[in-house]
Amino acid sequence: SNALESRRAAVRAWGDQPIHLADPDIHELMEKEKQRQVRGIELIASENFVCRAVMEALGSHLTNKYSEGMPGARYYTGNQYIDQIENLCIERALTAFGLESDKWGVNVQPYSCTSANFAVYTGLLLPGERIMGLDSPSGGHMSHGYCTPGGKKISAASIFFESFPYKVNPQTGYIDYDKLEDKALDYRPKILICGGSSYPRDWDFARVRQIADKCGAVLMCDMAHISGLVATKECSNPFDHCDIVTSTTHKGLRGPRGGIIFYRRGPKIRKQGHHSSHCDTSTHYDLEEKINFAVFPSLQGGPHNNHIAALAIALKQVATPEYKAYIQQMKKNAQALAAALLRRKCRLVTGGTDNHLLLWDLTPMGLTGKVYEKVCEMCHITLNKTAIFGDNGTISPGGVRIGTPAMTTRGCIESDFETMADFLIKAAQITSALQREHGKSHKEFVKSLCTNKDIAELRNRVEAFALQYEMPASLIRIE
Ligand SMILES: *Cc1c(COP(=O)(O)O)cnc(C)c1O
Repeated sequence: SNALESRRAAVRAWGDQPIHLADPDIHELMEKEKQRQVRGIELIASENFVCRAVMEALGSHLTNKYSEGMPGARYYTGNQYIDQIENLCIERALTAFGLESDKWGVNVQPYSCTSANFAVYTGLLLPGERIMGLDSPSGGHMSHGYCTPGGKKISAASIFFESFPYKVNPQTGYIDYDKLEDKALDYRPKILICGGSSYPRDWDFARVRQIADKCGAVLMCDMAHISGLVATKECSNPFDHCDIVTSTTHKGLRGPRGGIIFYRRGPKIRKQGHHSSHCDTSTHYDLEEKINFAVFPSLQGGPHNNHIAALAIALKQVATPEYKAYIQQMKKNAQALAAALLRRKCRLVTGGTDNHLLLWDLTPMGLTGKVYEKVCEMCHITLNKTAIFGDNGTISPGGVRIGTPAMTTRGCIESDFETMADFLIKAAQITSALQREHGKSHKEFVKSLCTNKDIAELRNRVEAFALQYEMPASLIRIE
């Protein structure tokens, strides 16, 4: 009938409108952001570019469905396909990391790694109980319980639980495992956390396991930055030693933004809490129930099914030889970049890298990470300032973190990263010159960035360089 047809037309008019018509303001900003991504050099170590299939799943009708609960045990009906998607995602997550389902389980629902980590604490601890992770200025992540040196509690992990950090050795930049052991034995955390966001070296997971056993702690690894290296066996394996492993899904894994939690299940391979509590006589891990309950219903509502489908797609790729080749190239690129900077007498924290990132100490050049980061941004190079330990143990934002995952995804190899090293050095020279010119006036310094012709010239070179390379999912036209 006519009445039905007019209702159908009304739904189509609202429901099928492309974004550039539905919302020109957002569309225009999205287009600008796309251009920024394509024309720039992306060196932020935690970023990457997803493929078209991941993006299509993310922007799909799966966002429409509520599916609170676990596959097969949902609060709402209509989840027969959603269940299959989440089960496939779970299966692929275990396969990607070489895990057997009788020893490990996984929750793929966390909205982010910060919330995944908080779910672990919520599931295992009472309010005020103790955690211990790598300090933020040492390269740890805030979600491991960050407090400022002045004692201000930044992370919810430190507001609702109690946290006490361990640190890197300020002289070497390496984690000081002996001090960590002393601190852990004094502090007796219930959860000991390894893994970080700005640590360029491999972890000694066997050593932290020994320490966790000595103080009776559950051992958790947050492998957010190195999960791609773990999956492809290009670094030491936290699954060999830890009880719980969390990760982001959008960094090295090249999936959608989100978090994931792996936990041991089945018979215990060691007595948990051996020294601290004699009441724990259970022979089986009870992490699964506690962690799943903490994710939902304690902390989250309905899972984002579009995200879980996208994650399943990414995890399928992680298990392929092509992905292994990607991770190996990412590592070689980090080596090439480190070598190129070292050849030009730059100082790198720990003297180099074992993984995908390096920490460049700018203090010998008289620069801070903040001013250098800003100049790089003006030249369309994105990287981020980072804390650097002085020889006397003081911390200053004197360096930058540089990572190779994103540009490796765009197809860059060692020689390309040597070119990028030239750009980075040029940007440092420009920063020095501007600092000399404008002395202490930060305002004058910032003003000069917009008119400086060296910056404009470097920006043009950077753009021309970046535009040579493919951008994944570039076929997706938002119109
Ligand atoms: C990036 C990162 C996180 C935070 O991930 P979000 O998904 O942004 O919450 C947590 N832990 C570590 C070690 C990280 O590097």
